[in-house]
Amino acid sequence: MKSNCTTVSLVEVGPRDGLQNEPAKVDLQLKLSLIDSLARSGIKRIEAGAFVHPTKVPQMADSDLLFQQLIKRPGVRYSALVPNLKGAERAAELPVDEIAIFVAASEEFSQRNINASIAESMLQFHQVIEKSLAKGLPVRGYISCALGCPFTGEVPPKNVVGLAEELLSLGCYEVCLADTIGIGTTKSTELLIQACLGRSLPASKLAVHLHDTYGQALANSKVALDMGIRTFDAAIAGLGGCPFAPGATGNLATEDLVYMLEGAGFSTGVDLDMLAKIGEKISLSLNRNNSSRTGSALSRKT
Ligand code: MG
Repeated sequence: MKSNCTTVSLVEVGPRDGLQNEPAKVDLQLKLSLIDSLARSGIKRIEAGAFVHPTKVPQMADSDLLFQQLIKRPGVRYSALVPNLKGAERAAELPVDEIAIFVAASEEFSQRNINASIAESMLQFHQVIEKSLAKGLPVRGYISCALGCPFTGEVPPKNVVGLAEELLSLGCYEVCLADTIGIGTTKSTELLIQACLGRSLPASKLAVHLHDTYGQALANSKVALDMGIRTFDAAIAGLGGCPFAPGATGNLATEDLVYMLEGAGFSTGVDLDMLAKIGEKISLSLNRNNSSRTGSALSRKT
């Protein structure tokens, strides 16, 4: 199952997972220009928006307009997160290339986050996947809280493995293991991926989505890389946060991940200097600190 491939696929989640956590309204034109500059830097997969309830996630309320106005660069896939069938139907009416769904590996988190049990949410996703595939939209599955739950702590790897198998069997082309609150360690990351590979889930169908709350995202990425994972989520300038972990930093910064990967001899196809400039620009526009160490270091040099 182990991959010797030296090409890594990046999924940029800043425009969705990052911006949805911004306290002040983010202008549509700023989102569009961020997405387009990311595409021009060489990123081929961008999670651009979400079709979620506008009162629950106001920052994503303009995703319909965003997809209508998006300049689609050749070879770039623009995806949207959907929580239910209604969201999937909205996505299918727009130039969305693929959809992403999410299920929690923790019962408590699932109840508090979406007011449904894991089983109930999976049942709903059966339909979402079926209808989306029928409309020609590939589906990516996220498993949130894969390395821990803010309410109950540890999440047994076997729970995650069971959900990953189910998502793949339902037709998801990839399952992304998300450390939603960023508490994973190199050991827990290794144990989780080991459990997945041990159940014959191919590394080529797995991705990781790491948060840097405890400063472990890069170390955990390297563990995943060494175990054959070749798809990584990251957010420009480390955008994002976690409502359940006050003071938490955001997603793993794309610039830091690219610097690590390229330094280790892997190819990302991304122009790091361009990324660093994009990260600086969006941080300034949002009046927030640039959470990317690599981005900050490169900006100081120029
Ligand atoms: Mg995230």
